Amino acid sequence: MRRPLVAGNWKMHGTRASVAELLDGLRRLAVPNGVEVAVLPPFLFIDQALNALAGSSIAIGAQNCAEEARQGALTGEIAASQLADAGCAWVLVGHSERRLIIGERDEQVIRKFAATQSVGLRPMLCVGETLEQREAGKTLEIVGQQLACVIESLGVAVFERAVVAYEPVWAIGTGLTATPQQAQEVHAAIRAQLAAEDAEVAQAVRILYGGSVKAANAAELFGMPDIDGGLIGGASLNADEFGAICCAAGS
Ligand code: PEP
Repeated sequence: MRRPLVAGNWKMHGTRASVAELLDGLRRLAVPNGVEVAVLPPFLFIDQALNALAGSSIAIGAQNCAEEARQGALTGEIAASQLADAGCAWVLVGHSERRLIIGERDEQVIRKFAATQSVGLRPMLCVGETLEQREAGKTLEIVGQQLACVIESLGVAVFERAVVAYEPVWAIGTGLTATPQQAQEVHAAIRAQLAAEDAEVAQAVRILYGGSVKAANAAELFGMPDIDGGLIGGASLNADEFGAICCAAGS
């Protein structure tokens, strides 16, 4: 039985005041038993979030880390070891905004994934196709390649301490959501790809869906057999909406 996980990716949003208000709302949430919850604030607000949510069951993660695991001379970067020292539990790796806007390549994603695990943190590996790729019938090929490069470089066992997030690029921040059937098809393919290497790892790994998840569509998505929770962008900036999504994961 896989424990559902709901993670909120705040992206580059927030001021000290709006973050304080959001954290206040999150602290009041009754997180359903059996659901694991995490929030991923911008680096600037990680400490504030850790302090505000101390004693709650909500874990904190980062949206990115340096390719180098250890601190050193790398201006403007944050090392996974620094995130671990701060008290983070998770690091988002390979989000499509970093792949497509910033130009992060698979080799960098692999190094960040490895850096994260080398200091005891858990990566959330994001994979997903663009609209053009979906329309060309290449969804499973693209997602399969994004996953395969990590398996080939680091081995399938790394997924014992990681989650995968399937996020169709065309559904992120657009209000368009994959149908539960569309998402399930890709989630099942991801699990089958992992199972071809190691059935136990595949059975245990959590595969999250991300892309315009809201309280109104969460239960239907999370009801699919291979969807183990969600990676939530816009809707995670509202504590009540995020709380309702967490409840959907527990129902
Ligand atoms: C995301 O950025 O990971 C995401 C899923 O965003 P949204 O929920 O806003 O589509």
